[in-house]
Amino acid sequence: MNSLKDKLALITGGSRGIGHDIADLFAAEGAQIVITYRNEDAGKKAVSALQAKHPGASIRGFACDVADGAAVEALFHAIGKETPVDILVNNAGITKDGLILRMKEEDWDAVLDTNLKGTFLMCKAAIRVMLKARKGHIINIASVVALIGNPGQANYSASKGGIISLTKSLAREVASRGITVNAIAPGYIETDMTSELTPEVKAQLMANIPLGRLGSGRDIAEAALFLAGEGSAYVTGQVLSVNGGLAMV
Ligand code: NAP
Repeated sequence: MNSLKDKLALITGGSRGIGHDIADLFAAEGAQIVITYRNEDAGKKAVSALQAKHPGASIRGFACDVADGAAVEALFHAIGKETPVDILVNNAGITKDGLILRMKEEDWDAVLDTNLKGTFLMCKAAIRVMLKARKGHIINIASVVALIGNPGQANYSASKGGIISLTKSLAREVASRGITVNAIAPGYIETDMTSELTPEVKAQLMANIPLGRLGSGRDIAEAALFLAGEGSAYVTGQVLSVNGGLAMV
């Protein structure tokens, strides 16, 4: 249970949902954890909960809006500019759904800013320290809807499609320096993000999922653990689908 011993893992959006489950599993595997969030109260509670569960681990939390370049700079300053970040998980993400005809420009911008620009800003800041260390793993959380589309989620699916393209280009840029960059494309995962789906919609979804259930944060965390560890040393520029078979592309 020590596959990430002494590695520093920075996980954006780690206060709840998938990001929290990734932080939990990585801490159990011996990593030092830094999570980020926007809501300071919820973030501090999440840090305390993780610390209580993993008393020997180093767990830190910082409020940082990933869409804000100055805040991202300040985050890396706070972590320590010379501190190697071994693993970066770009997990922070939002939805603002609506059919294109009714979609407000501000809802397009908000989703693209957090999901895609936030991933770019965090990657840019992290590779500076990873390049010096000549090692590192970046894991970007995309979505199944980037691969198959979804009515009402043009902004969200475009942001996640952009994350996949960003992942592949960055993987090519930094491979020679020992840094891997991969994406995970989750299917429907039970978190706050999907909590508003009605039981009818969930039943409809499940009818199309060969494994017959929605996913858990732990399902995504296990995939992230693989991409963060030495077992995936020869994997870069890839999209790992974790969706119960919902899409096979
Ligand atoms: P969630 O439960 O809504 O949690 C989102 C997390 O991101 C929270 O910790 C939130 O912190 C943080 N966050 C949001 N905007 C942020 C910003 N601008 N700066 C920093 N942190 C921010 O979401 P989730 O379901 O766990 O999803 C996590 C990731 O998986 C997202 O990228 C999502 O798109 C992706 N995904 C989810 C599903 C699914 O079915 N749930 C499927 C495919 C992909 P605050 O509350 O403090 O803002």
